[in-house]
Amino acid sequence: MTTIRLPALIDAHVHLREPGYPAKEDFASGTAAALAGGVVVVLDMPNTLPPTATPELIRQKAQLAAAKAVCDVGLFAGATTSELDAYLPAAAHVCGLKIYVSDTFGSLRIESLDLMHRFFRTWAEAGDRHGYRMRGQPSGIGPIAVHAEELMLPVCLALSHLYNTPLHIVHVTRRSEIELIAAAKERGYPVTCEVTPHHLFLSTEDAARLGPLGDMRPRLATPDDVAAMWEYLDYVDLFATDHAPHTLQEKQQADAPPPGVPGVETMLPMLLTAVHNERLSLDDVIARCVDGPRRVFGLPELPDSYVEVEVDEPYTLTHEAMHTRVKWTPFDGQQVYGRVCKTVLRGETVFQDGKVTATPGSGRVLFGAADEN
Ligand SMILES: [Zn+2]
Repeated sequence: MTTIRLPALIDAHVHLREPGYPAKEDFASGTAAALAGGVVVVLDMPNTLPPTATPELIRQKAQLAAAKAVCDVGLFAGATTSELDAYLPAAAHVCGLKIYVSDTFGSLRIESLDLMHRFFRTWAEAGDRHGYRMRGQPSGIGPIAVHAEELMLPVCLALSHLYNTPLHIVHVTRRSEIELIAAAKERGYPVTCEVTPHHLFLSTEDAARLGPLGDMRPRLATPDDVAAMWEYLDYVDLFATDHAPHTLQEKQQADAPPPGVPGVETMLPMLLTAVHNERLSLDDVIARCVDGPRRVFGLPELPDSYVEVEVDEPYTLTHEAMHTRVKWTPFDGQQVYGRVCKTVLRGETVFQDGKVTATPGSGRVLFGAADEN
């Protein structure tokens, strides 16, 4: 037995499904799953029901999180075709602005240049007023985060460059995309990016075996695309899971199962298995699961927060062992190294020996989003 201690992880991309989809997840079950994975901060996406598109909806969601969460939670505001940029008065209380410009779950897809221009322009104006957290303004605003595949990627890069607005590209999957992001970074564009564990460890070659349990957006990519994520690792700022649970029943329905897979509690074992196999170093993991998300989103330091992991004995990930409400994982049956024994948040043991020990509501909501704003 060798137990190592790591700084507690941050997952900058989760869908905890509250409000609106209680059968899939809520702040209680989703943050419990996070602690089981050694994650003590999650950044929650806005495609809930209703979407997190106005200051009032941001505050309501934050109060739900404040009452139930067992780890810290930041909220993204979402750009919509109906509420437009109504979130702006609460810009400093969210971790960033999410814009969906490619195929996704829910109804937040933005496709017109008119709207894209508006969202980038008004967010940049808010940045002029508040400053940006990642540029050292503690009360500033976060980046624009985009789900931008194919030709929408250069559109977003250009808008971010024109307005000097920090831009974070979520779940990059293709060689062409990471090459373009690398080129933009070389030229000093204010762009950062993330890759998910499922896009690092699964490819189109796994798609038939997994069926709907391997269906997410962006889809699993080719082995060459996966190889590109590893080749360009130096340009990848962070790993984030895109934890996007749907029930097994929903995934197994014959007619159009919804895309998305859970992941918040399997990230650390999958990454530590890559460390075991000498594909990654521990420093690579900490740089992208702790330091990277903190830098990209300007997150506060977390004192006395760490995770203890047993790294010598292999074990098998199973559906049954998951803490997410939907109780399944695309990595079921996978042998891994890196069992989370204990998670500590602000000096309190919040997860130990397979059980969440934190009190509901002990997680904090970041940036004052639960206060009047
Ligand atoms: Zn997502």
